[in-house]
Amino acid sequence: MTSGPRARSRLDAVLEHPGQTLIGIDFDGTLAPIVPDPDHAHAEPRAVAALARLGPLLGTVAVVTGRPAQTAVRLGGFRGVAGLEHLVVLGQYGVERWDAATDEFVIPPEPDQVADLEAEIPPLLDRLGQGAARVEHKGRAVVVHTRQLPDPDASFDTLSGPLTALAERHAMVVEPGKNVLEIRSPGIDKGVALRAIVAERGARQVVFVGDDLGDLPAFRVVDQLRTEGLGGLLVCSASHEEDALSGLADVVVQGPDGVATWLEELADELEARAARAS
Ligand SMILES: [Mg+2]
Repeated sequence: MTSGPRARSRLDAVLEHPGQTLIGIDFDGTLAPIVPDPDHAHAEPRAVAALARLGPLLGTVAVVTGRPAQTAVRLGGFRGVAGLEHLVVLGQYGVERWDAATDEFVIPPEPDQVADLEAEIPPLLDRLGQGAARVEHKGRAVVVHTRQLPDPDASFDTLSGPLTALAERHAMVVEPGKNVLEIRSPGIDKGVALRAIVAERGARQVVFVGDDLGDLPAFRVVDQLRTEGLGGLLVCSASHEEDALSGLADVVVQGPDGVATWLEELADELEARAARAS
């Protein structure tokens, strides 16, 4: 389940102190297969079942996503799952939060600048001949999808510069992903979110599983936390589209299916150790 001696020793630290370990995991492309219509995404059932086995063994399980927290909870089917009673979902890169323990959402109001910027997007797409691109309103962010267009990569390249300029005029930033350009407020990313929950939970080991450029700040934070004395293990859910994370990862698996298998193997190993210790 690991890819070399360094990864093995990092995994061993997690296995030896599971109660002090936090596992952070992305949603789309990691827990949930990428589908043409993001509203029809769903978490891979094997992965959710494995997380439910890990929930009682690990210190914290946190889903860290760019999606709104309510959407992630719904599409993930996380509510009421035995074993996930203490799951935390950090939505909108940590701006929003859901705690399974209380079934409460914390959702700050949306900033006005998002709506102002969003109003300018359809005419801009039309001017660039990309009017068929899908625009997704995510509350604190606006996402332009090129996946369903005839040439997704060419459309992505056409839109990248003009959308960046538009974002800058509204004091926002563009985060590129897989055939998506996400525009959101600066200073909000998964790295900030992950660091905050690690501190809140007093975790001594951090596992982060991600697949996309949006996960890069979380990967970098795990790297920083290692220099601060914490254990860290990085797992990349690789796809044919995005290899930016795989160079940083300790473990590379193939997509949500591979993630589910890796989580199952982690649960197997932790349960075997717990059985031996009792
Ligand atoms: Mg993802």
